[in-house]
Amino acid sequence: MKILFVASELYPLVKTGGLADVAGSLPKALRELDKDVRVLLPAYQDVKAQLPRARTVAELEVLGQPVRLLADHVPGTAIPLWLLDAPHWFDRPGNPYLAPDGNPWPDNDERFAALCWAGLQIALDRAGLGWRPDVVHGNDWQTGLIPALLSLEPQRPATVFTIHNLAYQGIFPAASLEKLRIPKALWHPEGLEFHHQISFIKGGIVYADRINTVSPTYAREIQTPRFGCGLEGVLKMRSERLSGILNGIDIDKWNPATDPWLPQPYDRDSLDDKGVNKRALQARFGLPQEPIIPLIAFIGRLVSQKGVDLILKALPGLLELPLQFVFLGSGDSDYEHGLLYWSRRHPDKVAVHIGYDETLSHQIEAGADLFLMPSRFEPCGLNQMYSQRYGTIPVVHRTGGLADTVEDALPDRLPRATGLGFDQTETGALQEAVKRGWLLYSQPDLWRTLQRNGMDKDFSWRRSAEEYCRLYRKAIADRRHA
Ligand code: ADP
Repeated sequence: MKILFVASELYPLVKTGGLADVAGSLPKALRELDKDVRVLLPAYQDVKAQLPRARTVAELEVLGQPVRLLADHVPGTAIPLWLLDAPHWFDRPGNPYLAPDGNPWPDNDERFAALCWAGLQIALDRAGLGWRPDVVHGNDWQTGLIPALLSLEPQRPATVFTIHNLAYQGIFPAASLEKLRIPKALWHPEGLEFHHQISFIKGGIVYADRINTVSPTYAREIQTPRFGCGLEGVLKMRSERLSGILNGIDIDKWNPATDPWLPQPYDRDSLDDKGVNKRALQARFGLPQEPIIPLIAFIGRLVSQKGVDLILKALPGLLELPLQFVFLGSGDSDYEHGLLYWSRRHPDKVAVHIGYDETLSHQIEAGADLFLMPSRFEPCGLNQMYSQRYGTIPVVHRTGGLADTVEDALPDRLPRATGLGFDQTETGALQEAVKRGWLLYSQPDLWRTLQRNGMDKDFSWRRSAEEYCRLYRKAIADRRHA
């Protein structure tokens, strides 16, 4: 199977969010399953600087402009990487989407339409590369025009479109239609038109043979007004073609047995050693080194999506219990100040590190007993998976990927449970779930069962890649029968 994977970011070359992790991991996992996967990415200034040996393999015309395709490999792999080299669109420093003033680049419509038109030429083997994919896999709005443009081509490959973040949709004025060379056949309310504007993401949602998002629960949630960002109707219309596939995690980097940043590595059979990491974490944050007080952690962006306001409201009640809290994150200054306030009031119970610190995030995952994730919505989420791998029990709002990856420790499900969940985004519900965790912690045998259940779970990219292969096959079959 030949797959053209198109994305606007890819770790380690360029990253603003989870999409980069997926683009950096999924093609690798697909290749390990012997798939012929090749990647198309814009040649941003920083990307070109990291790949000085990339050589020109094609010269194309896109939106009336001469552009080049450069060829190299995804770093550390044998996966062919094509870079769309169009200096007037991509030779800019910093964030791939935002100008230095924090606003979107004013020509983002052209920049990503160019990526889509180049993707189309490769997909139809019109770029002179001598390679024709069976499936084109686009990701997020930046690639949304590819399925739309390909839909007008009789000899096209199958198309798959993945939504990593529905909140970003690529909406542009209708006046850009001509400039972007969007065919009239695509311009109607059941096509690219969204409230009289052009919607790139609708191109993926309406025209791809198969659509998916990064968890099964989020795939259902986005068909409702609460989570659908105005697209719930069109998503519902295509619900038979819409599914969810959980992201994997890097199980080598996140492995408590080999993690170089841990004071004391451990595995499922040496969980007592996890206590050494807890002591070290307590010491680092000046918390009393009490082994029997449950230590609860939070790592993430301090924004409303992550439910930080809920935590702040729940803290006064929770601080009446013998618990310790460690927070790592940065974001809205109100939330930062709120957390710092509690750490000043209860320095023996609440510790806060404002900032981004990867090493510390590993040490917290290893040292904590419980991990809080009360996100309002969570397409997939990573930390709840890292936590389970580190024998740290997640306490989650049952939404999106959190609902799909954490088995709640309800009385009848204890033998399989891996964490605690709650349904309502309310202070009381969060407090109740933490209290349940606190009670379980006082039952060491049960606690060990929960820890090992989580540590035994398969969060590998291999599992996800196998599901993507099934999805590709379905898309190819749909295409054939269309
Ligand atoms: P999102 O992509 O919505 O921010 P995810 O849970 O999917 O949330 O991924 C966020 C990733 O970034 C996780 O790996 C998390 O550990 C990491 N992260 C977030 N904030 C910090 C921080 N302050 N320090 C270290 N790692 C962080």
